[in-house]
This record gives sequence, C-alpha cells and structure tokens, in this order.
Amino acid sequence: MAEKGCLFIVSGFAGAGKGTVTKQLVKEDPDIRLSISATTRDMRKGEAEGVDYFYISKESFEQKIKEGELLEYAKYGENYYGTPRSYVEQVLGEGKDVLLEIEVQGASKVKAAFPETIRIFVTPPSAKELKRRLVGRGRDSAEDIARRLSRAAEEAGEMGEYDYLLINDTIDQCVKDLHAIVAAERMKAKKQEDFISMIKEQLEETSKGE
Ligand code: 5GP
Repeated sequence: MAEKGCLFIVSGFAGAGKGTVTKQLVKEDPDIRLSISATTRDMRKGEAEGVDYFYISKESFEQKIKEGELLEYAKYGENYYGTPRSYVEQVLGEGKDVLLEIEVQGASKVKAAFPETIRIFVTPPSAKELKRRLVGRGRDSAEDIARRLSRAAEEAGEMGEYDYLLINDTIDQCVKDLHAIVAAERMKAKKQEDFISMIKEQLEETSKGE
C-alpha cells in the first residue's frame, strides 16, 4: 500500500557481487524495477544493449547532460555512467519501487536531491576475499585489479554514510537480506498513508455505530 514507490540505491566495490544480487532481487520481486543506466564504456562479452546498459557515444552522453535527461551521472575510470531520469520518475509515479546500481558519487548526488532514498552498500567479508574474487573472474589485468582495489579503498570512506551495509558472504543470504531491507522500508508508516487514512475512516464509522 505504498503511497509512492521507494527509491533504492545499491553500491559496492567492483567484485562485491552487487550485480548478481540486484538482478536476483528484481527477478524475484515484481514490484521493484532495476533502472538501466547509460554508459560510454564498451559492451563486455555476455552483456546486451538495453539489458545491462544503454551504450552510447561520449557526444550523446554530453547531450543528455545538457538537456537534463540524467538524474545523476559520474565519471568512473575513463567513462561516463548516468541514470535516465524519465524511467525512474515514471516507475516511482506508478507506485512501484526503483533500484539503481550506481557508484558512490552518483549515490550521494541522488541522496542530496531526494533525501528519502535508501542507500545500501554491498561488500565482501574481507579485502582478501575481494581480491580473490577479482582475480577469480579472470576479466581484468593485474593493473586493472590494482586500480579497482585502490578505488575500493577510497569508496570504503563512504560506507559509513550508507543506510545499510550488506556483507556478501554467500549470494543466497545476501539476496535474502536485500529482500528484508526492501520489505522493512515498504512497511514504514510514512509509506502507508493510504492505509492509515482508510483505517481511521473505518474506526470513525465503527465507533459511531456502537
Ligand atoms: P561497470 O563498468 O563495472 O559495469 O561499472 C562501473 C561502476 O559504475 C560500478 O560501480 C557501477 O555501479 C557504476 N555505475 C553503473 N551505472 C551507473 C550510473 O548510472 N551512475 C553512476 N553514478 N554509476 C553507475
């Protein structure tokens, strides 16, 4: 009975498993939609246009910035990443929830503009485990891994600002914990104003009849 949808942000270190966890959540919960970002980076093997990202040129990205089409954007490495504004507004307006999987700078911009945003940070249980996962996916060079680890050290400075910290030990447990956060946020009294008005009216009627 949400009055209007909740806006969730999931951030986390590269290799923390946030993509897997968020995709699983939206598969299991029809009332939450994953926003697809625009990016100037190249498509990776196994990715698809409009599924993982909208892959656009730097010029088109800059045009979108100029025209105010992005809710937020950030530069990560050499590339731009940004959240299309219209999709997020449309879904929230329909009373459904939206989940953004974005990095920490973008997340803090969204939080400043919409203070009710719920931010969740996903982390592996230890730095050693993070390195093991980055090496294990076999996607990045040794240099890339070193760069991602040093970025993780910077991002760790922001973790304490988040509303929730999810320690991703196993994917199944992490997805369960994410469902629990979403459920708890939906139960907040201020998200259930329709219900409150309804029961108030009923109680007035009922008390008059007695
Ligand atoms: P990747 O290139 O590995 O897919 O993503 C790199 C980083 O960009 C990740 O931390 C991811 O969460 C973040 N990211 C993806 N989309 C967006 C977006 O729309 N805005 C911002 N600020 N970050 C994003």
